[in-house]
Amino acid sequence: MRILVVEDDLDLNRQLCQALEEAGYVVDKAFDGEEGHFLGDTEPYDAVVLDIGLPQMDGLSVLERWRRSNRNMPVLILTARDRWSDKVAGIDAGADDYVAKPFHMEEVLARVRALVRRAAGLASNEIVIGDVVLDVRAGKVTLAGQAVKLTSHEFRLLSYLMHHKGRIVSRTELVEHLYDQDFDRDSNTIEVFIGRLRKKFGGNLIETVRGLGYRVQEENA
Ligand code: CA
Repeated sequence: MRILVVEDDLDLNRQLCQALEEAGYVVDKAFDGEEGHFLGDTEPYDAVVLDIGLPQMDGLSVLERWRRSNRNMPVLILTARDRWSDKVAGIDAGADDYVAKPFHMEEVLARVRALVRRAAGLASNEIVIGDVVLDVRAGKVTLAGQAVKLTSHEFRLLSYLMHHKGRIVSRTELVEHLYDQDFDRDSNTIEVFIGRLRKKFGGNLIETVRGLGYRVQEENA
């Protein structure tokens, strides 16, 4: 899952990126509205954390522009504590949720998890496929009740496929959602990680759909 953070406060930007990365997301960052708007307009994100008070272009304008050009990714806005009107304007501009500053990082993480989950049509933080259970909140996976040790790359890959269970996901889509913008994107590495996941979970969990990509079935047959 790839997240964009748009926040001009350097410290806060760094804290948000760090917390999201520790939670297993890949994070791109922007420090003003123009840069943020550009990234959100050109790169695919699974969610965006967008500050309202930004230089160059304010957060509401960024959001309105995205929505006008049909950029539909979930957006969590950060508002000043006593500016209730920002919350209303933000939601009217197309925000999916908001957090008022100052906030606890855990709240931002929980709201981002919920946005990503809802965008995938999931009601729970646990995604179950046969005897494989992925706990999004804890960042852990079990197979038949036993914890499976995964690297962060393996976890991200499995999490993305399980969030989109039943759908064929192309290698290009995986590369776009699993690596940040600075990563040297070689889609062959995806195959390597798929191989490692198959070693850990058996060959049936992830199906290769020739020429199209990979699929995790709703029910692991
Ligand atoms: Ca700001």
